Amino acid sequence: MQESTAGTTDAQAEVAEKSRADAHPDQAFGSDPLAVRESDHYAEEYNEGFVDKWDELIDWRGRYESEGSFFVDLLRKHGVESVLDAAAGTGFHSVRMLEAGFDTTSVDGAAEMLAKAFENGKQYGDYVLKVVHSDWRWLSKDVKGKYDAIVCLGNSFTHLFDENDRRKALAEFYSVLKHDGILIIDQRNYDSILDDGFSSKHTYYYCGDQVSAEPEYVDDGLARFRYEFPDGSLYHLNMFPLRKNYLRRLLREVGFQQIDTYGDFQEAYGSDNAPDFFVHVATKA
Ligand code: SAM
Repeated sequence: MQESTAGTTDAQAEVAEKSRADAHPDQAFGSDPLAVRESDHYAEEYNEGFVDKWDELIDWRGRYESEGSFFVDLLRKHGVESVLDAAAGTGFHSVRMLEAGFDTTSVDGAAEMLAKAFENGKQYGDYVLKVVHSDWRWLSKDVKGKYDAIVCLGNSFTHLFDENDRRKALAEFYSVLKHDGILIIDQRNYDSILDDGFSSKHTYYYCGDQVSAEPEYVDDGLARFRYEFPDGSLYHLNMFPLRKNYLRRLLREVGFQQIDTYGDFQEAYGSDNAPDFFVHVATKA
């Protein structure tokens, strides 16, 4: 489906109607899914059914191969020992970092995600994950101690719809880092989706070739993605379409000193519209 644009009210109404009809009953998007633009809604979106499907969507083996040692190398380059995986999800990066020898703590605001991450830790390498159930906006209330690095990966930050929530979450990340700590945060290339339409090569992150992940509706304040699985089950996520330079600016404004941005894991990534994903490495010192 093509993305909708502001002003096309008939098309918008049609998308809203279809979205309503398709909405997975457990995901609680209500009668007007396009109006759901709340930072608190993520926990309902990642319900048990969707969480069980999530690993199918991200295909651990494929993701492992396409990411290679990018994050592990970055962490080692910065002399990191302790890492907080702030958006642990089902535990892919937590397991990857434990495997690489980092002292890793896994945080997520959705209890179902953490339960699955714990299970996956046991399954992939017999790791007992240290898990903390916490929302980023109140992270320092739940997480004790300071970390060398925080990673917030898999296009997670996009779940915050309100600028105050984004600032608060980044300030909490900043406060939980040691004086010379680093934050690694990634995002889908929404600039390209907003400006040119959707063209993900499905190479990174969403590696399951059986699963389609595509935007059903996009405007400046909402990217509603539709995830369709081989068994016919259908889920949605409502996300805020973060622009790359906007997120870089917020990082600078909360106090991070240097922000290096990679496109699809490359330092030199050509034009801004080419990559599917950006990874920002923000340093405190
Ligand atoms: N990092 C994992 C991955 O790459 O597979 C999971 C990514 S998933 C797209 C986003 C995760 O962020 C979900 O597990 C969700 O529960 C979590 N999340 C979203 N908003 C959050 C918030 N405000 N506080 C804590 N966790 C949040």
